[in-house]
Amino acid sequence: MTDQRPAAPLAPPSPTSPPRVFIVGGGFAGIAAAKGLAKAPVQVTMVDRRNHHVFQPLLYQVATAALSPADIASPIRSVLRKIKNCRVVLAKMRGVDLERRRLLFDGGAVEYDFLVLAAGATHSYFGHDEFERFAPGLKTLEDAVEMRKRILLAFESAEYEGSEERRRAALTFAIVGGGPTGVELAGSIQEIAAKTIQKDFRHIDTTTTRVILLQGGDRLLPQFPPDLSERARRDLEKMGVEVMLNDRVTNVTPDGVEIAGKPFLPVRNVFWAAGVQGNPLGKSLGVPLTRSGQVVVNPDLTVPGHPEVFVVGDMAAAKSHDTGASVPGVAPAALQMGKYVAKRVRAAVTGAERPDQRPPFSYWDKGTIATIGRAKAVAMIGKLKFGGFVAWLLWSLVHIAYLINYRNRLAVMASWMWNWLLNARDARLITGDARLDIKTPRPGEVILAEEGEGAAAPNREFGPAVVSTPS
Ligand SMILES: Cc1cc2nc3c(=O)[nH]c(=O)nc-3n(C[C@H](O)[C@H](O)[C@H](O)COP(=O)(O)OP(=O)(O)OC[C@H]3O[C@@H](n4cnc5c(N)ncnc54)[C@H](O)[C@@H]3O)c2cc1C
Repeated sequence: MTDQRPAAPLAPPSPTSPPRVFIVGGGFAGIAAAKGLAKAPVQVTMVDRRNHHVFQPLLYQVATAALSPADIASPIRSVLRKIKNCRVVLAKMRGVDLERRRLLFDGGAVEYDFLVLAAGATHSYFGHDEFERFAPGLKTLEDAVEMRKRILLAFESAEYEGSEERRRAALTFAIVGGGPTGVELAGSIQEIAAKTIQKDFRHIDTTTTRVILLQGGDRLLPQFPPDLSERARRDLEKMGVEVMLNDRVTNVTPDGVEIAGKPFLPVRNVFWAAGVQGNPLGKSLGVPLTRSGQVVVNPDLTVPGHPEVFVVGDMAAAKSHDTGASVPGVAPAALQMGKYVAKRVRAAVTGAERPDQRPPFSYWDKGTIATIGRAKAVAMIGKLKFGGFVAWLLWSLVHIAYLINYRNRLAVMASWMWNWLLNARDARLITGDARLDIKTPRPGEVILAEEGEGAAAPNREFGPAVVSTPS
């Protein structure tokens, strides 16, 4: 009989091997670091808890059924296939022992010579993690598929809901957070309801769907100049989105959201796009963190007292040397940091640079773009500001260019053209457990219980799997 026990996920490289570089996280920063170390005299190990790299800027398009998950993701193994000095390991890291130079995982530890932490960020509910159940965020492909399911199930539930009040609540969506993700989600959900599925249902008018974007601050897209924020607000409102500014959400319940100083807002579909928190791995370092849990790094992106440990991408709170400004949590910054640390490691192992000779990291800001909806976006490149179709075209080209491989670029371009021509969003798949949320079925409807559950059971909080109309 063969031995069925799993192999140790992180067997150490042979002691005679070149310096061991561990990279945790196959996102933008980690992949850039691994590629930057191609052919360097080091042995690179890329560790990720998932087997795929995700292009996060297009997650909202998976959540809103414009793209399929595989269009924006790619196996890390195939991304790094040509980097011969790099191996890929599927494992979740738990922490770092800085003093003993060990990377910790469940059931073991492995020694490194250089460590690059590039594990990204997660959502922040500002101390209210209990909101997550009713207001999921968007960070992974799983989150996107779950969000897609909730959006589509809301319309399915509304179609068979007999209570007008509950039907209205099912056809109301609230997005908390008016940054780029909140704006993109609000615009896309509005487009689904008004332009994509309006002919698919028999009992409901999906064009009456309410999409509400709640922003705690006084304008949307605070990273843009005020005139572009204002343009984004106007564009969203023209599309039919209700924008609420200066409205701080204080509680999220299964029935709606509480807003400071305002009446309770009954809404069954709440999505969270309001805050980020550095990856919990940062905490294990025992070095200073920001309030949002990012690791405060030195000008060369290392942690204090450890020139062999770099923290990059969304995990790092870095300052750009040339401007002194904080480096934003965006994909180009993560890519630039990844490339920068690869150069530092290469220079260190070849003896070309001592830690005290390292040039500090500077971020090259190539511009900021946010999309709002079909042919609507805002962009700022240097001092130039654009809106509308030109900005949207630029946004599309930049996103295509940054996708990880040709397959994804082709797939996304083809889907976008199809969607544009037909107002389509054909990835409208409800996967997993498809339970409708119906309390009072529409008169005359028969509700079929799930297999094994017996007869129809109206008035249940989370109802049946299937609803049918008797002929
Ligand atoms: C919804 C959304 C929209 C965005 N839109 C834009 C945009 O339009 N433009 C833009 O420039 N930026 C955008 N961003 C930000 C951008 O995606 C991030 O700045 C970028 O992904 C950061 O790269 P990273 O390499 O630091 O982390 P990530 O890309 O998050 O990668 C981190 C990797 O670490 C892995 N990992 C995490 N924890 C562990 C662990 N314990 N053990 C092993 N592996 C682990 C993860 O699986 C992941 O693969 C968006 C982000 C989100 C979430």
